[in-house]
Amino acid sequence: MRIEKCFFCSSTIYPGHGIQFVRNDCKIFKFCRSKCHRAFKKKKNPRKTRWTKAFRKASGKELTVDQAFEFEKRRNTPVKYSRELWEKTVDAMKRIEEIQQKRKAQHIIKRLQKGVEDRKKADRKLVEKNMHVLKSPAAKLSRKGQQLMEIEEESDFEEEKAVMEVEVEDEDEE
Ligand SMILES: [Zn+2]
Repeated sequence: MRIEKCFFCSSTIYPGHGIQFVRNDCKIFKFCRSKCHRAFKKKKNPRKTRWTKAFRKASGKELTVDQAFEFEKRRNTPVKYSRELWEKTVDAMKRIEEIQQKRKAQHIIKRLQKGVEDRKKADRKLVEKNMHVLKSPAAKLSRKGQQLMEIEEESDFEEEKAVMEVEVEDEDEE
């Protein structure tokens, strides 16, 4: 018994489900449900139909190139049964699934990151463009007042310095 993949949407087909079409050149097409079968009969391209796996992979929405996918390849040479190998395989399947899930999640986060950056850029542009709304003329006045205050403080400091220097000179004379 084998779990097959749908030709159109790439979802799994469990035994006893779906429909199979054999073309007159002996190529076998398997479909998970009538939706996929109908789309195939209409000669729709799975890469251009948005809800299929093929579209998602072709448009970079899902992880395509990864070492973890190597294990899933279809093998046509039968393997001789051995209990040890079977147990190892079951253990490995769990671990591989774990790794795949992690990598897929990472891929999605990476993909969405670009949108976040773009939105930030757009926000910055908007603020720069409409700066006049944020800055009121009153704010400018108060800032000028602050500058004046700072200048006054500085002049006070210089006067104090001069007084100190005079005192030092007096001491030298004595
Ligand atoms: Zn399907």
